[in-house]
Amino acid sequence: MFRISQFMRDLANAERTGAYPAASHRKPPGPVVIWNLIRRCNLTCKHCYALSADHDYAGELSTDEVFTVMDDLKAFHVPVLILSGGEPLMRPDIHAIAERAKAMRFYVGLSTNGTLVDDAEADRIAALGLDYVGISLDGLRDTHDKFRRLDGAFDRSLAAVRLLHARGVKVGLRFTMTALNAHDLPALLQLMRDEQVDKFYFSHLNYAGRGNIHRGKDAQHLATRDALDMLYARAWAAAQEGRDEDYVTGNNDADGPYLLQWVATHLPALHARFGDAMAEHLRAWGGNASGVNVANIDNLGNVHPDTMWWHHTLGNVRERPFSALWTDLSDPLLAGLKQHPRPVQGRCAGCRHLAICNGNTRVRAQQVTGNPWAEDPGCYLTDEEIGVAGGDMRVVTTPFSARQTLAQIPVVEAS
Ligand code: SF4
Repeated sequence: MFRISQFMRDLANAERTGAYPAASHRKPPGPVVIWNLIRRCNLTCKHCYALSADHDYAGELSTDEVFTVMDDLKAFHVPVLILSGGEPLMRPDIHAIAERAKAMRFYVGLSTNGTLVDDAEADRIAALGLDYVGISLDGLRDTHDKFRRLDGAFDRSLAAVRLLHARGVKVGLRFTMTALNAHDLPALLQLMRDEQVDKFYFSHLNYAGRGNIHRGKDAQHLATRDALDMLYARAWAAAQEGRDEDYVTGNNDADGPYLLQWVATHLPALHARFGDAMAEHLRAWGGNASGVNVANIDNLGNVHPDTMWWHHTLGNVRERPFSALWTDLSDPLLAGLKQHPRPVQGRCAGCRHLAICNGNTRVRAQQVTGNPWAEDPGCYLTDEEIGVAGGDMRVVTTPFSARQTLAQIPVVEAS
């Protein structure tokens, strides 16, 4: 996750005080765990990475098993649990799980589509004292309902935002951009402000589950840059005005170098004074965290490097504790993800921003080329911007099932 607002607030403070804060290279004690506790969902969204449907799935972790895993996660110094699904509110024991997680002093977030949140559910969520609730909105009413394949889904999700907000729960909107909904981004940002929503999470499309099937609809690089220009300008204005709004992005770590570039273009005087310090902060952030600071446990207890790697399993918490699976580097993918620098190839290997971006999202590379270390086809920076002479070697995102040949990928040995 890339916290735009944090960088913008630091820059706004530096503009006022003349000092940019020193970067901290201290690493978190354990990974953030995104936990898909249930696969069932009342919706069948077009970009769902979990390929969820509205029926029960056999073999999901029991309440006792979840509690046992939580004990291991706590001992392993996991700081954050994001309870997700499917639709996590369809799990009958979700409140007991969340209550225990809070009692164990995890930071607890809930990712929901919001359609099941009525007054009573909002009361229960508020009483749990969750740290954050993210509600997905893929556009305004028509767009969202088409994406979610349910008439009325937008109204129900927006009602959930209002019900929770009225109870003092920190709420964020989650927006996954594709070519089919990019036009709604300005209106959604305005909606965020009108509703006084705390956070806007902009997710780039990742190629997993139905997101992979629909990868041919991924926003083109120019549309992605336009969207980020809009987000950066908004976050900068909010920082200068002292607004308590958070803008974050996910699933494309080229957003880090692109922020530096945006500051150089739009705020050249500040870039000249604080650009080096900002770059150091971006390196300390460290880019893509899959397999390092982000982990995933699915509904069956399988552990993955992140939520987009459900086709690659490190083991199951019923057989080995999460802490053992996460530190077992006999798995070549996990070992490569934890390697620093990662053994990336193609233009990522020669990129001058590798220390900031960390090679971006390996799932996109693997889904399009078959090679998890190939360049990320979702990188929207030009060869000139990353400092390589790539010519025509770019991997292009092809529609689902049309894989490119590995022969197109230049092999570069890891240093
Ligand atoms: S070329 Fe690779 S390492 Fe460089 S910014 Fe793009 S995705 Fe990141």
